Amino acid sequence: MFTQSDAEFDRQHIWHPYTSMQDPLPCYPVVAAQGYLLQLADGRELVDGMSSWWAAIHGYNHPRLNQALQQQMTQMSHVMFGGFTHPSAVALCRKLVEMTPAALECVFLADSGSVSVEVSMKMALQYWLGRGETRQKFLTLKRGYHGDTFAAMSVCDPDNSMHSLWRGYLPEHVFAAAPECGFDDEWNAHDFDDFARLIKQHHQQLAAVILEPVVQGAGGMRFYHPRYLQRVREYCDRYGVLLIADEIATGFGRTGKLFACQHAGIEPDILCVGKALTGGTMTLAAALTTREVADTISRSPAGCFMHGPTFMGNPLACAVAVESLRMLQEGAWTAQVASIEHQLREQLLPLQAASQVKSVRVLGAIGVVETHQPVNMAALQQFFVSQGVWIRPFGRLIYLMPPYIIAPAALEKLIQAIGVALEHPSHFTS
Ligand code: PMP
Repeated sequence: MFTQSDAEFDRQHIWHPYTSMQDPLPCYPVVAAQGYLLQLADGRELVDGMSSWWAAIHGYNHPRLNQALQQQMTQMSHVMFGGFTHPSAVALCRKLVEMTPAALECVFLADSGSVSVEVSMKMALQYWLGRGETRQKFLTLKRGYHGDTFAAMSVCDPDNSMHSLWRGYLPEHVFAAAPECGFDDEWNAHDFDDFARLIKQHHQQLAAVILEPVVQGAGGMRFYHPRYLQRVREYCDRYGVLLIADEIATGFGRTGKLFACQHAGIEPDILCVGKALTGGTMTLAAALTTREVADTISRSPAGCFMHGPTFMGNPLACAVAVESLRMLQEGAWTAQVASIEHQLREQLLPLQAASQVKSVRVLGAIGVVETHQPVNMAALQQFFVSQGVWIRPFGRLIYLMPPYIIAPAALEKLIQAIGVALEHPSHFTS
């Protein structure tokens, strides 16, 4: 039940992501979700192309995830993590240590992706304090995105996250040119020149390099060459700088590998995961480190890692994450993601021919159409809903990252809707 008065209250009183309170874009009331379908209050069903921003990989309302939550709820929904531990946290961290790159052994549970990025950056700062040095700069890539909290924002693309708004408040870090060599392109060694120059110049101040491996998500949906990432690892080793991989979006199979770092065969010193960790049921993230990083932090003057939020290790979130990871370990995702990738290559890539399209790219269960003109968000969103699909474009990007369990006919419906949308000039700003 969702009344007109609910809609009016929402418009008057509730902030939505990146939305004006004075002139908000329309919001669609959703009242239920099942598998890859979202049900609106008026009864219409939409095929979900977004997985609720990379999270709902197994589909919505999954009986096994629900069961895990219910089971945990009968034991306890929450208990503080300071001085206590509990079976679901241990089970989750065991799985994380097992599934992530071998060198990562120590897990810090955080409340959200952005917070895990904050934690990873604080870990890097404390690591250097543990080594008796003060290093406070981070090297990162233009067009990156790491979250909306302040430390995370300071390493996001300066233009996309409007660093000019925060000048004087945000710490200033070092930005290498965004990689230009695409995932499927022939490797061009010069792509790495700017990064090489900057790490050489600044390494004595650098606490860490932080980047999204292989896929730059919210900063442009760009897929770069794994060789770039290999070189980053080599240069971090050469200059003694930590490497933080933000796999909050790419982790848990989305790019066709369990973790995007595996495309390059590298291991980071610190890894951030989130989003799909709970199968999209609730917020939880983690930062994992090597033993060496953890030990060095523990030797820093504080004697411990200085972080410990109220809801750390929330049992409900841990329990549902354990089940989500168990489902991933059973392995159906590999065939599902491969089949989504195949279908996207067959059906989405041909949209390259449309006059409005600058480029189309596909990697794993991600399909991106980059247009010449920015989209008219309100018009395009309304059009997609009228076609029975949920696709949330931004800037010059219309992209798909559906739940892994999506049926081929439903994925075709999403792709077709994009094809038709591209034919309407009113969907784009001039
Ligand atoms: N890092 C990356 C790569 C992300 O894509 C996101 C979310 N889009 C974040 C960090 C922030 O995560 P959250 O929104 O859960 O804070």
